[in-house]
Amino acid sequence: MAKIPEAQNRLFKNMFVCKNCQSKIRSDTQKVLKGLTKCRKCSKKAFRPLKKK
Ligand SMILES: [Zn+2]
Repeated sequence: MAKIPEAQNRLFKNMFVCKNCQSKIRSDTQKVLKGLTKCRKCSKKAFRPLKKK
């Protein structure tokens, strides 16, 4: 698979990892920042971007 910066950026941009249970979730950055995104597994609202780590 060719690495397309734009596509990768888009993929990672909306991906977050739950700080509580480490499950990945796709959501808008704005939604996460506003606390509108809940973790599917543990219902927490603490997320970090997927990029880190
Ligand atoms: Zn969680």
